[in-house]
Parts: sequence; structure tokens; C-alpha cells
Amino acid sequence: PTSLLWFRRDLRLTDHPALLAAIDSAGPDGAVLPLFVFDDRLFGTSGGPRRRFLLDCLADLRAATDGALVFRHGDPARVVPALAEEVGAGTVHVSTDTGVYGRQRDEAVERALGDVPLVCTGSPYLVTPGRVTKSDGTPFKVFTPFSRAWREHGWRGPAPRPDDVRWLRDVPTEDPPPTPDLDGVDLPAGGEAAAMDAWRSFRDVRLLGYDEGRNTPGSDGTSRLSAYLKYGCIHPRTLLSDLATVEDGPEHVKRYTDELAWRDFYADVLWHRPDSAREPLNRELAGIEVDTGPASEARVRAWEGGRTGFPIVDAGMRQLRGSAYVHNRVRMIVASFFVKDLHQPWQRGARFFMQHLVDGDLASNNHGWQWVAGTGTDASPYYRVFNPITQGKKFDPDGDYVRRWVPELRDVPARFVHEPWLSPDGLPAGYPEPVVDHAHERRVALDRYAAARGR
Ligand code: FAD
Repeated sequence: PTSLLWFRRDLRLTDHPALLAAIDSAGPDGAVLPLFVFDDRLFGTSGGPRRRFLLDCLADLRAATDGALVFRHGDPARVVPALAEEVGAGTVHVSTDTGVYGRQRDEAVERALGDVPLVCTGSPYLVTPGRVTKSDGTPFKVFTPFSRAWREHGWRGPAPRPDDVRWLRDVPTEDPPPTPDLDGVDLPAGGEAAAMDAWRSFRDVRLLGYDEGRNTPGSDGTSRLSAYLKYGCIHPRTLLSDLATVEDGPEHVKRYTDELAWRDFYADVLWHRPDSAREPLNRELAGIEVDTGPASEARVRAWEGGRTGFPIVDAGMRQLRGSAYVHNRVRMIVASFFVKDLHQPWQRGARFFMQHLVDGDLASNNHGWQWVAGTGTDASPYYRVFNPITQGKKFDPDGDYVRRWVPELRDVPARFVHEPWLSPDGLPAGYPEPVVDHAHERRVALDRYAAARGR
């Protein structure tokens, strides 16, 4: 028989339990038909960097399946059953999607498939969201106990890459959508081989400095795997089983494992609280006063364009526009500036990030924003307001990161690079004055948080 393997966020052939299940269902004489569906509700609403990266991953996957991968456009609840019928597939295989939209979509597809079973095997996470719970079955709300239970829960070892898959060939395919023109945005190459290369170069060179590198945006000390993990070009199981063989630097291995645990944690929070994609988890802060009007919009435009006059904020926003990526430390700084200095709703900043990030992921992004805004489960306390100048001095002491992204500041001495208005030579030509007085906006933010809590 034929089995249909519908790829979504699992664009690889190595360590792919749903692929093995599809081969198993097909049996020794059957074949597997690989499919990807361009769904307007997901692909159509993704920002340009994600669409381009995904298309790149799909080109790689098509080559890896010897051209067997077929594309369809439209609502999966219509397209998947139609193709299953066309090729006489006995089963449809997927990796479980626990996202807000994915769950509803898969229920609709399952209903529409009727007698043909939709078989879910594996997920993009080490532990499928919803499975790590307290002993009374309720979800964890705080990261540290979650991560402890998550480690105790454990996960299977990586699944082998099948040697020889019998793909169902010559099924007519539709064309993929056109590649978005991104005008100079520098994206990583998509696909499984590129993911493996990125992982190996991190593991062999930067892993042993990760504990510091993850906090110094100028050093490129992190793995840059987020987009690959997002689209499943590599599974975190592969990473952890590889790390288990590393003998040096246990503190770096532990730190890296913790970051993957954050990824699982936020997916778990979203699974239990799908409303947290839009609403604050902490409802107490839901009604906080935000800024509106033309002057406020001008400041938002300055933030979006990397022209706030605060060097580390501007460098971060220019990194976002130039490479569709921002270092984690700087994501926190620019998000804090947006919420607490510009008094904007975190949801608006999160939407902007989703349009521009190549690794944009609803769970990690929205909960990252909620962490900064102080509204999340395991959030930074709402009264903690990042000072963009001291953060810059602490995490980019020589100004390497700022100078890379803000060329106007290249010749400013390190002492003044985070507060160029103090430089004896004055502000460099073309670089703006600060758009706000941070000390003042900090007080405004704290007053508004206090008012929201007191209501
Ligand atoms: P590394 O430091 O090498 O970490 C390895 C992997 O661990 C990452 O690829 C990622 O999958 C995971 N990870 C690391 N830190 C976190 C974290 N804080 N939360 C969840 N997972 C983490 N990450 C996304 O993947 N997509 C997003 O849309 C996203 N938006 C964010 C928004 C804000 C406001 C903040 C503060 C963080 C956001 N993050 C997001 C988390 C983090 O910034 C990125 O995962 C990380 O910078 C990616 O770079 P890397 O692969 O080099 O990370």
C-alpha cells in the first residue's frame, strides 16, 4: 500500500519517527508519498524571511527525496484527503503539531479523511507538549521545576535515517510559490545538510565558550540553530545525543540543554494556555495604559528602523532587518525598550518580530515578549526595567556589536559608544539624539504597572 507523509515542521529525513512509521505502514512492497501543503493561513501570513527560508528547506527536501516531494496549495482539510484518495493511500502520517492553529487544522483533516487514519508520531520537541506535568497532573508554571521534571521524563534516542526509502514517484506536483525578494537580507541556507553543518561548527568550535558567548552579542558565540529547529531541519534529540558524547565543559553542555528546555517549556505553556498567544498570562496586567498618537507612532517608527538614538537598541533592530535574526540578549533589550520606554503593548512588538525573524515561532516569541513585559508565567518581575546604556556597557563592553550594525558609530571610542552624546566630538553625523529620556520613561512605566495592579 501507499502511505502519505505530510511534512510540516519536520523538514528532514534523519531522526524522523513519522517517516519510519510511514515506511512501516507502506510495508515491503508499498511506497511513501511525501507531501507539503502551502496553506494560506500559515504560509500566507508568515513574514518574508520565514517564507524564503522555508522554500529553501523544501528545495533541499525535494532533492533528498529524489524529486518525489509533491506540493499542493490550499486548505489541508480539502487537499490532503483529495491526494490520499487520488493515490489510494491507506494512512496519512505526520509529526504531531501542538500549536494553536495546527491542532485545529489536524482535527479538521482527521475528520475529512474519514476512514483513512491520520497517524501522529513524534513532535518537534524533546518531550511532546502536555506530557511533563506535576504529580497531580497539572502543568508547571515555572521553568526550573519544569526543567527538572523534563529531564527526569527523558526522551528516546535519535531514530536512524532510513537507508533506502521507496518513494512514490511521478505524482504530478504544483509549483511552489515565488520566492520573496528580501532586498539584501542575509539569511542562512535552509535544509537538513546546512543545519547539520551549523550544528557541527558550533559543537566543534563555540560550544566550549557558550556559557559566556550566549551573553555577548558581539562574539557570535551561540549556535544559530533556531530557524533550523523551527522548521525541523534538525531535531533537538539529535543535538542532545551528540552532546552526551562531549566530555569537556559540562557547564556549557548543561547551559545549552537548558536553552532547549526553555523551547520545550514555552511550547508546553502554549499547549496548556492557547490564549497566551494573544493575551497576557498574568491578567492583572492586561489593562496597562499604553501610548498612542502621532508622537508615539514616530517613536515606534524610530524603533522599527533602528534610529532611537540608543546604540544597542538600534544595533539590535538593524540586525533584525539585516539578517532576520537578533541575539537573545539584545532581543530582551529591544523588547524591554519597546514595552517600557515606548509604552507599547507587547503584542505589537511580538507581531513585528514575527514578520521579520527567520526563526519566528509563536511559542518562543510570544512568551519571550511576555517574559520581558512581566506578564508571563515565569516572567522577569514587571518592575525590572532594562537600562539600554548599562546593558550595552555590560554585554558589549568594547562596542563590537554596536559598531558592526551601526556604521555611524564606528569611530566613536569604546568609552562613549553606548552614550555617544557624551563624546567630546559630539554625536557623529547622521546618528539621532535619544528619542526618550530613559530615567523618565522608567518612572512612567513603573507608575502604570502599579496602577494596573491596583485596579
Ligand atoms: P542558542 O543560544 O544557540 O540556543 C539554542 C537553541 O535553544 C535555540 O536555537 C532555541 O531553539 C533555544 N532557545 C534558546 N534560548 C531560548 C529562549 N529564551 N526561549 C526559547 N528557546 C530558546 N526563539 C525562537 O526560536 N523564535 C522566536 O521567535 C523567538 N523570539 C524571541 C523573542 C524575545 C523577545 C526573546 C527575549 C527571545 C526570543 N527567542 C525566540 C529565544 C531566543 O532569543 C532565540 O531562540 C535565540 O536567540 C536563537 O539563537 P541561537 O539559535 O543561536 O540560540
